Amino acid sequence: MIVIMKPGATKEQLERVLKRIQEEGLEVQVNQGKEQVVIGLIGDTHNMQDVAFNSYEGVENTVRISNTYKLTSREFHPQDTIVDVNGVKIGGNENFVTMAGPCSIEGLEQIMETARMAKAGGAQVLRGGAFKPRTSPYAFQGLEEEGLKYIRAAADKYDMQVITEVMDEEHIDMVAAYSDILQIGARNMQNFKLLSKVGKTGKPIGLKRGISGTIDEWLNAAEYIAVQNNNNVIFIERGIRTYEPATRNTFDLSAVPLIKKLSHFPIIVDPSHGTGIWDLVTPMARAGVAAGADGMIVEIHPDPANAWSDGPQSLNEKTYLKMMKEVQIMEKAMKEIAAIENPVNV
Ligand code: PEP
Ligand code: MN
Repeated sequence: MIVIMKPGATKEQLERVLKRIQEEGLEVQVNQGKEQVVIGLIGDTHNMQDVAFNSYEGVENTVRISNTYKLTSREFHPQDTIVDVNGVKIGGNENFVTMAGPCSIEGLEQIMETARMAKAGGAQVLRGGAFKPRTSPYAFQGLEEEGLKYIRAAADKYDMQVITEVMDEEHIDMVAAYSDILQIGARNMQNFKLLSKVGKTGKPIGLKRGISGTIDEWLNAAEYIAVQNNNNVIFIERGIRTYEPATRNTFDLSAVPLIKKLSHFPIIVDPSHGTGIWDLVTPMARAGVAAGADGMIVEIHPDPANAWSDGPQSLNEKTYLKMMKEVQIMEKAMKEIAAIENPVNV
């Protein structure tokens, strides 16, 4: 349930409503919008009479949100959330942010060289896994803390931010010490204890869509983070499993405008895991911009043929730089489209 205050409602009116909510044993999150305040009620609101709040002075309306997620919903927070990663702003249709790097950190030299490539193309965030969720227990599992040290050093050298996956609760503090964004992998989208715990760090969270995650499940996963007072969620569409084996996953681009309609959190696309095939990555990256994504995360490698994981979907320097040029052209086109969709009032 959310309570929407009237524009111009006084502080005292707001406090009276907040006091009543507390008396009901519920917690709140207050969203101070441009014009009005929206209060999100957290807890079991089934026995609450909507009318009790509507009769308070300064209350415009009470809306019972039928979704099970609230803080993640557009109703609660009508304006776009912009996640600020040490000055790199993701969301709000400001600019398209690229996160690029190898699937796995393989060594200091490899991540340094990949960071150089990533930066040359205009990426602002360096990706790379130190804890790898591999299908086979015999496959390379990641360099763990050694890898985290390498990616931090590479990002610092090229003035970039770091995104890397945290796979379990036990390693949250360690990963958070080296990374600016904590990535929750597709296989952990519904690891609810992990979501709550990463939420508590307050750090930006890159939340991948589950392998078979529905939009509703994904939004509820974000709610587990938001309810910890962490409003730095970044959705990552990485494709879902369907009956089609020709691509690694089925890249669901309609998720981009749909998530934007249902939630205020930014969404970026992952055309690498979305397709699994390197020469499909560029067209899907272009399409991601056209769908309105706030950015992308893409796998690149100095020598994809010898990558320790996900080589077949990784771009080399040449194909990556070409993609980034094309993405920039798409970005310009999207600015023109935005001007048609949201003409500035004169
Ligand atoms: C990755 O980013 O390398 C990864 C393992 O992604 P996902 O969780 O989407 O499979
Ligand atoms: Mn990968």
